[in-house]
Amino acid sequence: MTASNKRQGLLERLAEGPVICAEGYLFELERRGYLQAGAFVPAAVLDHPDEVRQLHREFVHAGSDVVEAFTYYGHREKLRLIGKEHLLADLNREALRIAGEVAAESGTLLAGNICNTNLFEPGSNESATQVRAMFEEQVAWAVEANADFIIGETFSYTEEALIALEVIKQTKLAAVITMAFHRADTTREGDTAGVACKRIADAGAEVVGLNCCRGPWTMLPLLENVCASVDGHIAALPVPYRTNAEEPTFQSLRDPGCDCLPGEMPFPTALDPFTCNRFEIADFTKKAQDLGVNYFGVCCGGAPHHVRAIAEALGRTPPASRYSPDMSKHAFFGTDASLQAHNTDANAEI
Ligand SMILES: [Zn+2]
Repeated sequence: MTASNKRQGLLERLAEGPVICAEGYLFELERRGYLQAGAFVPAAVLDHPDEVRQLHREFVHAGSDVVEAFTYYGHREKLRLIGKEHLLADLNREALRIAGEVAAESGTLLAGNICNTNLFEPGSNESATQVRAMFEEQVAWAVEANADFIIGETFSYTEEALIALEVIKQTKLAAVITMAFHRADTTREGDTAGVACKRIADAGAEVVGLNCCRGPWTMLPLLENVCASVDGHIAALPVPYRTNAEEPTFQSLRDPGCDCLPGEMPFPTALDPFTCNRFEIADFTKKAQDLGVNYFGVCCGGAPHHVRAIAEALGRTPPASRYSPDMSKHAFFGTDASLQAHNTDANAEI
C-alpha cells in the first residue's frame, strides 16, 4: 500500500470530521431471533455467524465507519454464567474475525470491544485484579486480530473504566471509553459525567463519552456537562428510546397503557412503543454535534435506519441513502404530476 491509499486510523478520521460507530447488536439479534434476552451473551457469533456478519454489513450500508467486533458481554464472567467458559477464546476470535472481514471488504475500521464486567467492586483489590485479567485476555485477542482501536464501554464505575483504559493503553492502540449513567446523574462512585470523562481523558483515552441506558433526551444534559469538562474527542451513543426526566433510563421506563406485560417493566423486550423515530435520532445528532460531540452511534435498540439518520444528519449519503424516502411519488400524498387526481385529491380521507 502507498501512503495515499493507506487506510486512515480513527484519529485521522476524527481530525477530518465526525465518526459513526453502530452498536446495538445484542438487541437487534435478539429481536431477529438469534440471541437470548436475559444473560445477553453474544453466543450468536458461534451459533449464527452469518447473521452477525449480515448485521455488520447492514450497519456499514447505513453509514457506520466502524465495525465493532461483537464481543460485548463475551467475557469470562458472562460465559461462566451460561456454562460456556470453555468457548471464551473461540467466541472472541470468531467475533473479531467476522468483524474484520466486513471492515476489510468495506474500508471501515475494526474495533475491538470490552465492557462492564459486573464484577468490579469499589475498594476491592481482588475484584480489580480479576477485572484487569478479564480485560487483558479480551484485549489480547483484539490485538491478535489487528483491531484498529479498542472500545471500552458501558462502565458505571469510573474506576473500572480506568482499569480498562490502562489495559488498552498497554497495546498502543487508541481507546474509546464510554460511561453508562443509570437513574442518578453520577457514576456509581459519585462522579458527575464531566468529572468521570475528564478523569478518563486525562488518563489518556483518545475519545471519551457516554453510551447506553439513557435515551437521547436524558443523555443530552449529561453530554453538556462532558463537553464543558473535556477538550478532546467526545462520544455519544444513547439508546433510541423516549426516556424522560422521571424515567431517565430504558430500564426505568414504565408502560401503564399496556396490561399484558409479563413483568412491571417493558425492558428489555417490550420497549417497542418507546422507540425513537429516525427524525428524533437526527435531531439528537445535530444537538449533540452543536455541543461538541464528534463520535456518534446508537446503543441497545438501535437499528440500521437509526444509523442512516445519524449519517444524514451529519450531511452524508451512505449507500442506504439511495432509498431514503421520496414522498412526492406516493399514490395519495404525493405531488408528482402523473399521479391520479382522484387519489391525491382524496388524501384527507386516507
Ligand atoms: Zn446498550
